[in-house]
Amino acid sequence: GPRVRFAPSPTGYLHLGGLRTALYNYLFAKSNGGKFILRIEDTDQSRKVDGSIEALIRDLEWVGLKYDEGPGQEGDFGPYKQSERLNIYQDKIKKLLDNGSAYYCFCTERRLNILRRNAIRAQLMPKYDNRCRHLSKQEVHEKIAAGVPHCVRFKLTSDIQHFEDLIFGGIAYDVSLNEGDPVLMKSDGYPTYHLANVIDDHLMAITHVLRGVEWQISTTKHLLLYRAFNWEPPQFGHLPLIVNADGTKLSKRQNDVHVEDYKKQGIFPLALVNYITLAGGGFDHVPGAGIGLKTLSELAEEIDRISSHSTRLNPDLLEECNRLEIKRQLSERNTTQHLIRQIQELVTSKYSNLKLNTSEENIKTVLSWATSRITRIEDLVSPKLAFLWVLPSNPNVEENNKVILLKLVNELEDVKTFEEVTLKKYLKDFCDRNKTKFPELMKTLRLVLSGLNEGPGVAEMLQLLGKEQALYRIKTVLH
Ligand code: GLU
Repeated sequence: GPRVRFAPSPTGYLHLGGLRTALYNYLFAKSNGGKFILRIEDTDQSRKVDGSIEALIRDLEWVGLKYDEGPGQEGDFGPYKQSERLNIYQDKIKKLLDNGSAYYCFCTERRLNILRRNAIRAQLMPKYDNRCRHLSKQEVHEKIAAGVPHCVRFKLTSDIQHFEDLIFGGIAYDVSLNEGDPVLMKSDGYPTYHLANVIDDHLMAITHVLRGVEWQISTTKHLLLYRAFNWEPPQFGHLPLIVNADGTKLSKRQNDVHVEDYKKQGIFPLALVNYITLAGGGFDHVPGAGIGLKTLSELAEEIDRISSHSTRLNPDLLEECNRLEIKRQLSERNTTQHLIRQIQELVTSKYSNLKLNTSEENIKTVLSWATSRITRIEDLVSPKLAFLWVLPSNPNVEENNKVILLKLVNELEDVKTFEEVTLKKYLKDFCDRNKTKFPELMKTLRLVLSGLNEGPGVAEMLQLLGKEQALYRIKTVLH
């Protein structure tokens, strides 16, 4: 089967773009009986953010993207952190120096800055002028012997100008026209991304590289590197941009794009996963077809539907996905218990003056009623629905309304089926018999039951609260 990898740099927290890359690699592996590998690309020590590897692994786990090989899940191709593979890169670069596809560069930072400045002044793209390509063997030897600091650069050629992108189709890019020779190994002995990435994809036997479109212009460079090593390259597919609802590019700085933030906002992992496959250059979505929530294995079956156009994130879709996920959890036996427990904890931690019972039975009743009204389970304890759990703070009922309420409460004692439709009819009859205006009585009742001026229908509320609790609330205001 294929071997694919997610290769994040630990420079921050996992954002939507990264999550999507991980997800598509995972789905691709699952749908083809392959392996999903996590490789940490941490060779740029200066950009490393403490704790981000741990957070990343935690996020992947939360979403359910279990990797077959990676840190803490050692396979035959480790270690899976590039900072633990430095000797490998130092060994492999020798081959490129020997066969003439790489060379030592002794240019100082000062010279490179001057090149850059001159280019900018001439309104040209700054690029290295490849000067050290032309040093003689003798010169190189002397400089190294004298301990002159140096890096290693890759000799770009025009030999590869095209490749077939699995998602975008034919891509043409002559990297040697656009860029100067790139650094492969820095003066401190650390490899750059390009070198380490190619070496590891080869040594880890990666068959398909699926990554963000921002890497598309690096691919011919990588293909040149494979050729220089005389290695068979993997196939490449690039995932289109994810853009905001307003069409602007998704930036990591926007605070709501971190996976952790969605988690904190009460978004369920499967909802988030479905959301990304529906937006942001996701699976082609049939407009108007409505959305159905899919499990990871169902999504794996549809992985070939990835489209190449960037589509916009639609936050409403995320909410809809989360609602569907709550419904799914409620309806599936193996998830219901956990959901109920989560809600019990949420409710008991929110209200110290809890008045309603939080039995499984009651939570289920409340939840099946609420799923069409809430987006996150946290909404169950929002001010609008607080009446489900606590008594309204002493609603003010006028004296002349109390007479009719007393009459009602006495009659309700005898009502057997405390259920919405029956109750609604009953309340109508009651008003007719007592020459009371229905809307007015409902207004009073709603206030008594929930402390709210508007909200769910009164009959609905009565059913939700249950006979005992409902009558208790009415009697309380009569005292
Ligand atoms: N380390 C790169 C990143 O952070 C990986 C790019 C690739 O998949 O080749 O996106």
